[in-house]
Amino acid sequence: MCSTSPFLSKMQLIDVILPLGIRETYTYRVPDGMNPIAGMRVLVPLAKKEMIGIVLGEHTAPVPDTIQLRDILLLPDAEPMVRVDQLRLWQWVADYYMCPIGDVMAAALPAKANDKLYSFAADAKRRVRLPEYTGEMEPIHPLNDQQQRALQSIREQWQSRDVVLLHGVTSSGKTEVYMHLMEEQLSQGKQVLYLVPEIALTTQLTDRLQRVFGNQLCVYHSRVSDAQRMEMYRRIGLDDSRCKVVVGARSAVFLPMTNVGLIIVDEEHEPSYKQQEPAPRYHARSVAIMLAHQQGAKVLLGTATPAVETYYNATQGKYGLVTMRERFQGLQLPKITMIDLQRQYHRKEMYDHFSDPLVDRIREELTKRKQIILFQNRRGYAPMMMCTACGHTPTCVNCDVPMTYHLRLRQLTCHYCGYTTEVPAVCPSCGGTMRVQGFGTERLEEEVAKLFPEARVLRMDLDSTRTKNAHQLIIDAFARHEVDILIGTQMVTKGLHFDDVSLVAVLNADQMLNQPDFRNYERAFQMLEQVSGRAGRKGSQGEVFIQTFHPDSPVFIDLMNHDYETFYGKQIAEREQFRYPPFTRLIDLTIRHTDLQRVTIAAAALQIRLQQAFGARCSMVIEPSLSRVQNEFIRLIRLRIESGANYARAKQLLAEQMDYVRSLPTCKHVAIFADVDAC
Ligand code: ADP
Ligand code: ZN
Repeated sequence: MCSTSPFLSKMQLIDVILPLGIRETYTYRVPDGMNPIAGMRVLVPLAKKEMIGIVLGEHTAPVPDTIQLRDILLLPDAEPMVRVDQLRLWQWVADYYMCPIGDVMAAALPAKANDKLYSFAADAKRRVRLPEYTGEMEPIHPLNDQQQRALQSIREQWQSRDVVLLHGVTSSGKTEVYMHLMEEQLSQGKQVLYLVPEIALTTQLTDRLQRVFGNQLCVYHSRVSDAQRMEMYRRIGLDDSRCKVVVGARSAVFLPMTNVGLIIVDEEHEPSYKQQEPAPRYHARSVAIMLAHQQGAKVLLGTATPAVETYYNATQGKYGLVTMRERFQGLQLPKITMIDLQRQYHRKEMYDHFSDPLVDRIREELTKRKQIILFQNRRGYAPMMMCTACGHTPTCVNCDVPMTYHLRLRQLTCHYCGYTTEVPAVCPSCGGTMRVQGFGTERLEEEVAKLFPEARVLRMDLDSTRTKNAHQLIIDAFARHEVDILIGTQMVTKGLHFDDVSLVAVLNADQMLNQPDFRNYERAFQMLEQVSGRAGRKGSQGEVFIQTFHPDSPVFIDLMNHDYETFYGKQIAEREQFRYPPFTRLIDLTIRHTDLQRVTIAAAALQIRLQQAFGARCSMVIEPSLSRVQNEFIRLIRLRIESGANYARAKQLLAEQMDYVRSLPTCKHVAIFADVDAC
């Protein structure tokens, strides 16, 4: 069956990747007259459907006679859409993150690739769909001394390493340093990949890059049309002059850069670089480092608040480290004031969720015609309702969580599955009076309107930014000072610059510290330092008010001093003591099904197998605090592998145990998957 005629070098049987995430590959026959090449798109039959896949290569292993192979139907393109080196990167992601390569394909290719009517060649003949930039151009700013030294040091450290961390305080001018390095790459004819956590929140940055790099800049994101995304993909693969600098969020690491000299990972600490759902559960920072390695490129990780793992790598000499401690033009870092909520409530010096000192300060800043950012990391009016008589709380029918109260919509909404119901007039359980508990951005908006009726207010959260340009409109209006107070969730913490913001207030910092996660202090420090960085950009020193019931928490002391190094020192000592990353690597196993009994059995079976294979590295079965989502029951098992150990071997052993449990009749259809380097 696998014998090839001496006159034919073409493949008889091929392995095809399908974006299904079920099996590794699918084997098909090649009819006469068709000449597939690795990386080409191919239309294949699957059950009663047709589907686009990617040719992985020739199938050489013998196929049992009992298996009826089918013919491929069509090769829509004359050339491969995916290069062999890209396929190698896909395979690396699939192996490292323990998922079928089809999952990687689904994440890596633009949606248009799945369209059987689309043709690469026809697309290449069509002209100008990428909009031409005709706006103003701006030169790159000359660097100041600190930036100059940083630039020099980055270059030097790249001599002996591929990855350098640029640790620069907020507003130290990291972006300007990046731009000088980018310019250098362009002058050598190289491409640059610039990764950002979320494109929608980066318009200030992309506007600036556009003014400097003009038509060489290409911003790859979900808001451009499918056809444009495909065109960008194609042009990037050709090292086209329109796509020399590519800005994108995490999935941009899969773009077909052929000639990349530099990859920048901006705000490298951001959790959104890790894909959680669906597979591949990859970390874009790790894939970027792999991609750079493959192409002989350099990597620059930039942030004011490095991930603990990254800083550890830098202190160990695995990455280079360059520090900028001063803000641009000697501007001071903001002054942070802690407000003790316990004392404020005790003395009755509170107005709704605003302490008296905060109210006074906001009034003062408004009189001075300054702007204020209010940060509360919860959207909606209130996270839950409760009956004052019996304590009943309306919860989602599909998930084990309280429903969030949205005042304007007059609805209770589940933030995990989107299920909504009407707000009950009285307690559905006892007829008592319902009251809201806690507060989100919508409630803050209401309180602000009462407290400061003269102020112009906007809210920026998931609910207020659902329409296409909503982010941009809010950011622009605030930047033009048409708004006095901006209320927002974590969206307002990201690299935005507003010249007139003199005060940032965190209404309740405790909810960040109360998460049952070894990273909660790290995350809280990062978020608070980043949101603080929005204060006092031009002229005078900014101020930050943090309201909390725990003003003595150690995380606040380092924050008040803007002292990342000391903070890191404490964190790394704890991580070592309790065997957390970077001293171990975590693999979280999720077991999920709608039938609780099946989940329980599968989790127990897997735990027993893993216990045998891994001993104390394997946890007991954990019932997570969110133990049911969208009608599926969830259980977790955590593996901790020592950093020095053979990770690949451990994953192989793990895969065997997972396959074994999946094959048990009682565990049929139970979803079991691994989250490698969970975070
Ligand atoms: P970071 O990324 O470190 O938070 P930015 O690079 O955004 O800081 O710089 C902060 C502000 O200072 C921006 O408005 C930027 O344009 C300005 N800036 C930084 N460096 C320079 C420079 N060398 N010349 C002129 N302006 C600069
Ligand atoms: Zn739900």
